[in-house]
Amino acid sequence: MRAILHFDADAFFASVEQAADRSLRGRPIVVGGLHRGIVASASYEARRYGIYTPMPVTAARRLCPKLIVVPPRFELYEQFSAHIFGLAGEITPIVERQGVDEGYLDLTGTSRCLKRDPVEAAAKLQRDVKDWLKVTISQGVARTKLLCQIASKKFKPEGFTVIPPDPAEELGFLHPLPVKWLPGIGPAHERLLQSAGLTRIGQVARMPVEWLSELVGSSARGLRDFANNIDDRPVVTNTPEALSYGHQETFQEDTTDAAFVDATLRRLADEAFSRLRADGRQIRTVTVKIRYTDMDEHQGQMSLKEPTDVAADVYPLISKLLQRLWDRRVRIRMVQVRLSNVYTGFSQLDLFGVRQRRRDLAMVCDQIREKFGPRGVMRAHDWVLEGARDEGRGARDGAKPARSASEGSRGQRKAKEEYVFSRG
Ligand SMILES: [Mg+2]
Repeated sequence: MRAILHFDADAFFASVEQAADRSLRGRPIVVGGLHRGIVASASYEARRYGIYTPMPVTAARRLCPKLIVVPPRFELYEQFSAHIFGLAGEITPIVERQGVDEGYLDLTGTSRCLKRDPVEAAAKLQRDVKDWLKVTISQGVARTKLLCQIASKKFKPEGFTVIPPDPAEELGFLHPLPVKWLPGIGPAHERLLQSAGLTRIGQVARMPVEWLSELVGSSARGLRDFANNIDDRPVVTNTPEALSYGHQETFQEDTTDAAFVDATLRRLADEAFSRLRADGRQIRTVTVKIRYTDMDEHQGQMSLKEPTDVAADVYPLISKLLQRLWDRRVRIRMVQVRLSNVYTGFSQLDLFGVRQRRRDLAMVCDQIREKFGPRGVMRAHDWVLEGARDEGRGARDGAKPARSASEGSRGQRKAKEEYVFSRG
């Protein structure tokens, strides 16, 4: 019988700040002040005043005049995250990271290998994290990923919920819950289901798939399976690749054209960010790798102050890294961009600002490209690449000659932030 644990840290950023600074413990604090001053994380003491995420810091201060506002320190959160996953790795080697502060552990084998009951193993992790890191996590243990994830999120803080592997117990837990607990149900689907009178998971479970697909389309079968706790998704140990978004390109001909290499890196970043946005995630770190003609490789990375899902935020980092890495007067054969330190739930923290408008623009471009192909909308650096492709210096899979790339690089500097809508 499978036993899966899901854990999720409670008020993670605020808790880490309290763990790192004794004087903050037991007091109402929020981590915030980023962008237009939105609360990114609120301690449970602050939540008692009705403070929540995302809320403007000014509104939070009105609710609690004694509120302590701490600027975010993502590097610190990433260190704590690494420690938590280190402790998780001592319980079982099968750990699947879901973000900085949550993940799944497969505890099925613990009783055989460690002579420890899965529930006992889970309790040990919760204890270890609290003792060593002074941060609390909530946990759910169940037979499926679906159930243990819901259980860990539903009962907080320091929740510890075990759902025995018995169909009556499992469905008894699942069926009375509101439909929004099902994976993939966003506010739009939730409203649709509710308008059809389906408010509880149990009602979805009894719906014929044909009826359900009238409402939610092709996701109907998966949704009804989840509603019946049919979920055989395994816990998969993340490879480093799974924890990042990487794209690379090998040039048709090895090159010394810096503008062309820079444009290629930006294009690769665009592609990676488009995948990132589709997954609803953000990143903080970008790594650039270059391979010379003689196969010698250099790589370097830089981090932003806070997570983002807009490629334009990392363009300056990419250019800086390229300049720093390319220190030999040798032609380049291959370049790679990798985005890492993945976060979820950050895009909602800038509901009104300029960044939100840039996100909206990026998402519209994603839609246009999905509909009309990669050339449906082009940024300045895409034109540099177009020029190079015309000259026959594109990627190994494309080709054809024409105009000078130095022209392209001047144009690129002028029109850096603008999108160009092509007729093609
Ligand atoms: Mg959390």
